[in-house]
Order: sequence, then structure tokens, then C-alpha cells
Amino acid sequence: MIAPREPYVNVAPLYLGHNLRDYVHDGAASMATGNASSRAERGTEQIGLQPADVLRTHHGGAERYWGAAPDWKGDDHVQGTFNQTSIALSSSTATHMTHEYIGSIHLHTTASDGAASHEEVSQIASQAGLDFLIVTDHNVFTTGKDGWYGDVLLLVGEEIHDTERVPEANHYLALGIREHIVGLRRGTQEVIDAVNTQGGFGFIAHPFEHSPSFTGEPELPWIDWQVTGCSGLEIWNYMSEFKSYLHSLPRALPLIFFPQLVMSGPFRETLAKWDELLRSRKTVAIAGTDAHGNTYRVGPLRRPVLAYGHCFKAARTHILTPRSFKRELEHDKELVYEALRHGNCFTAYDAIGDASGFRFTGQSGQQTATVGQDIPLGAGVDFEILSPLQAELRLLKDGEVVGRAQDSRLEYGAGEDGVYRVEAYRRHLLKRRGWVFTNPIYVTS
Ligand SMILES: [Zn+2]
Ligand SMILES: [Zn+2]
Repeated sequence: MIAPREPYVNVAPLYLGHNLRDYVHDGAASMATGNASSRAERGTEQIGLQPADVLRTHHGGAERYWGAAPDWKGDDHVQGTFNQTSIALSSSTATHMTHEYIGSIHLHTTASDGAASHEEVSQIASQAGLDFLIVTDHNVFTTGKDGWYGDVLLLVGEEIHDTERVPEANHYLALGIREHIVGLRRGTQEVIDAVNTQGGFGFIAHPFEHSPSFTGEPELPWIDWQVTGCSGLEIWNYMSEFKSYLHSLPRALPLIFFPQLVMSGPFRETLAKWDELLRSRKTVAIAGTDAHGNTYRVGPLRRPVLAYGHCFKAARTHILTPRSFKRELEHDKELVYEALRHGNCFTAYDAIGDASGFRFTGQSGQQTATVGQDIPLGAGVDFEILSPLQAELRLLKDGEVVGRAQDSRLEYGAGEDGVYRVEAYRRHLLKRRGWVFTNPIYVTS
């Protein structure tokens, strides 16, 4: 008999795993089959489970079924089969990731060169349907502004660069830090190390830039690729992509009014660089809006270019978490940051189709994994891609396409270890656009 890990849920003879315990702790649990009298409310009572029992949990109005008979077909939240010795729920990490939140990462407020306050961007984010926002003002770390604003969780990081470097380059997004990080006259490795020393983590911002000269906007690429210790990179910086289309004033004018005519997703060279980095280490991909909400003078016009509301509906990062938000800053911040640190997330161009529910999972024997996670090759890994919308789905192994379908589902049996990730494309306004880019599942030998 395995001793219960918490006083309030007697899981013996089964070990249910960390995340289910949290789930039961948050809400209530009862048996859907088996002993119908077994019920636990907020952890005050105990449940004993038998083989093939189904545990039904209630949380925030949602019902979930955990564990089921092998032929169970009634619910896609089935987590596996209980038996006397099973530790399926603790080893089956992917199935813990039952919550999805949508955020906009990398934006600027009036604390640096943005046009709106923290309160104003939160309100715009709420109207855009976002769950969280991560503000990263230039070389300033604003304290006391993180928290819940209505239904939006606002977190504060910092975008750091050496302001005396000529030409300007190497912008770094620092998240999870407690204090301002000095970027002035410091090398990028020093900045990354300082972020990590504070318990933070970070991402390379807009790694490639192609700004046409007529706008006068400088190119701000990442140069120092030899660095170590960063979590990943922005594979899609919305502002970078937009700037790359402004070749001339006549070309720029319609795009200032209708950026959706051109915006198409990550640069090929950024994806190639990401694949190159993945050959040697785990590298998390995120999308950044780099929204400033500023008004520009273009010829005779003065107009806000890439308004916050526009950006918040376009380049988004969807995170997958094992628990739901509690509207408690520290708890919820940790959920967001853990997902981003480990790559339990995917980027989506939601303005051309809501990607909520997009899933990439792998199964090897009793183990499953989702984006950002490892899975042993074993006798082979069965991958499944589920899309909420029809799309051109592409499965890549180590940067090469190994599976493809024009569908809402793609299955693939992998017989080799490697780094597997998914791209999805959709046609919108007569053009093929990058829609979803997932973080990898890492198949280990
Ligand atoms: Zn920047
Ligand atoms: Zn920025």
C-alpha cells in the first residue's frame, strides 16, 4: 500500500500524482463508477479507488473524468486506466496540462516608449479576449503594477539592451525577475546571467530584422548567438514582420490601414535558426507583439500603427497549465512562467482563426507528453495533432517535414528519437499564412 501524499485524499492503493491532488484540492471529487458514496469536498474526506474506477472532479463549473475503464469513450479527458499498481497519472505528464490560457507577450507602456498605461493596456487586452499580458518596457522594471486587472492577469518583465551599443542590437526579454537589470555597457551573456541569478528566465527578442531604409527605423537583430542560459526566442515578432514589408511609402500606406493584408507569421530564417538551436539544446518558442500603440506620421497622415487591440488579437502565445488560475497573483504568475520556461505553449495567429484547443501529443507505452516535454522512444511514439480548424498540418523532425495533412487531425508513428514540432498553415485573404507553431516534443532514446 502506498501512503497517501496528502491528508485529505486517501489515494491508496493508487498514487494519483501531484496535479490531480491539486485539482481535487481546488474543487471536489466523487466516484462516477464504483463506490458511489465516495466523495471528497475540498480535501476534507478520503477516497479509495479500485481498478477501473472513474474519478469525477468538479472545479469551477467544469467536470473532468480521471481514469476509466479501457473501453471508455465518453469523454476526451480520460486520463488512463487505474489498476492496483498504476502510476499512470504521475507518469502521464501530458494529460496534466488540462488548462489553456491565451496571452500577449512583449509590449510597451508609457513606462518606456508605449502610448498607454498598464491599466489601459489591460482593458484593451480584456476586450481582445486575452487571459494574460506580459509588459516588457525598455530598460525599466516597473514594480507594483503586476496583478489582476478585471479578467486579465498583467505581469511585468523588462526588455533589456545596452543603450550605448552601436549599432543597437541584442534586445533581451527578461521575465520572472525581482529587480531592474542593468543593460548599459554589459555583454549579453552578463545580462542573461544576471536574469538567471534573480531566478528569472528570458527570451531573445526579434532575432532577425529587415527594416527598409525609408522609414528610418533601425534594424535591431540579435547578434550574439554564442550565448547560453536563455530559455528561447521570439520566433514571431509582429512588429518585426510588419516593418519588413514597408519597402516604400506607396507600399506602406495601405499596410498601415490593413496590416492583415500582409502579415503571414514567422520568418523562414527564424524557424531555421530555431531548428539549429534545437539540435544542441531545448529552446522555447514564443510569439511577441512588440506593441507600442504609437501614432506615426507617414507622409500627410498621422495614424496609430499596429494599435494594441490589433496586436492583441493577432500574435498570441497559448500556454497549457496543469491547474487553473485562482486570481491570486503569485500562484497564477507561477503557472504562466512555468509554462513559458518549459515551452508548454504554442504560438498562434488567432486573427485568421482561433487556435484554442490545438493539441500536439505523443504516446509511448503508458507515457504521454505534450509540447515542451520529453518522452522516451520505447517501442515507438504515436503522435497526434488535433486542430480546432482545418489547416495544412506539418509534423517536423529535426527541422524536416515527416508528416503532412490538409485536415483537422494528423497521426504519425515515430520510430526514431529527435525533436518533433508542428506547424499549421491556413489560407486567409488569398494568401497562405503561418497559423500555429508548437513547441517541440523531445523524443529521447
Ligand atoms: Zn526590442
Ligand atoms: Zn520591444
